[in-house]
Amino acid sequence: MHIENRGAASGHYQIQGVDVLAIADEFGLPLYVYDADKIIEKIGLLRSSFAGVNLKIKYAAKALTNISILKLMRQQGVEMDSVSVNEARMGMLAGFEPGQIMFTPSGVSFDEIREAVELGLQLNVDSLPLLEWVGQTYGPSVPVSIRINPHIAEGGNIKISTGHKDSKFGISILQRTEIRKVVERYQIPVVGLHVHTGSDFKNANAFLRGAEILFDLANDYPDLKFIDFGSGFKVAYKAGDHVTDIAELGSKVSATFRAFCEQYGRDLELWFEPGKFLVSECGHLLVRTNIVKENPSRTFVAVDSGLNHLIRPMMYDAYHDIKNVSNPAGEEQLYTVVGYICETDTFATDRLLPEVRPNDVLSFENAGAYGFSMASNYNARLRPAEVLVYEGKPYLIRQRETFDDLLRGQVDIPELNSEVIEQSL
Ligand SMILES: *Cc1c(COP(=O)(O)O)cnc(C)c1O
Repeated sequence: MHIENRGAASGHYQIQGVDVLAIADEFGLPLYVYDADKIIEKIGLLRSSFAGVNLKIKYAAKALTNISILKLMRQQGVEMDSVSVNEARMGMLAGFEPGQIMFTPSGVSFDEIREAVELGLQLNVDSLPLLEWVGQTYGPSVPVSIRINPHIAEGGNIKISTGHKDSKFGISILQRTEIRKVVERYQIPVVGLHVHTGSDFKNANAFLRGAEILFDLANDYPDLKFIDFGSGFKVAYKAGDHVTDIAELGSKVSATFRAFCEQYGRDLELWFEPGKFLVSECGHLLVRTNIVKENPSRTFVAVDSGLNHLIRPMMYDAYHDIKNVSNPAGEEQLYTVVGYICETDTFATDRLLPEVRPNDVLSFENAGAYGFSMASNYNARLRPAEVLVYEGKPYLIRQRETFDDLLRGQVDIPELNSEVIEQSL
């Protein structure tokens, strides 16, 4: 269940029936809180929408990498997509078999590829030089997936452009012949084709035109086991947002995929690698109001958090809905909500919120994906604790950092511990 406003009478926001203010009291602020039920609901929605095909969900772990979240995914029968060997190692700690983990690196060293192969991850190759190296190094012994850049433009339209300088990811579909030559030269077993454009697609038809490119390419490779459509599901950040209609997408893509499998002559697995779709909405960043400052032009609310904890508003102009958890029935006013970092650090400009008072608890919504995983110690600030509400009970899944965490790894040079050296002018 999502955070709900149970009405002005009780005035309590709850997650799975647990009072959010009680969670704030118990674990302190600022705090990331995740709702396991929301994640399970999204997994269920994806499964039911693609009921007609052999679907595999590979959770893109970079969105939210806490091991308890990875364990929850595994428990729910979801597998994993990783972009670094360390991310894959965390997945293995969470109980995934190496073979359940797709490794989709971008421009990493051959040493890291070697580690991934030694661990037994499913390698997804995103450049011709890497494909060449894999062929030379492993010949026919390591099955790979190939990441294709189909040149799908943002907004859902497909553009086959003559270069791929607008995106560093994948091997251009225009290099189809070169890919095939390398594969044949080294007898590389190609078991998967992959595409992840990263752009939010909004309608099934645009997505399908991209899929057709992979289906056509599949004719070059008779031993495929899966086709991986990456991610790009658009999630709602506020009421009225245009989102990917998963049910519509599911029925159209499933039908097209079944027809493709028939023509290909074998039942392939259809993979997706959602990050945001699975974990964006489950997450809430709870913060406390430090100062309410009325300037002539604007009323600023400064909270005990900032771009060090949630960088998305500053990095991508992302919109995060804000709830005033402790005063939901207050009279609405316009506020500009800012962080405590010494840098322009705005969460929201001129946002209508129930009256905000010092010490109120605010919740930034949609904070599950790319929230904690992009957090830093900038300004020598500590990163928040993380809590998972699972089966109606809040569990601490990451401790709040301490001052010692800021010093960990720093090396003291004794020579710098001398008395102050006399300064000559
Ligand atoms: C980041 C990433 C994803 C997940 O993207 P979302 O927009 O969070 O769903 C999927 N696949 C790959 C290869 C990625 O790098």
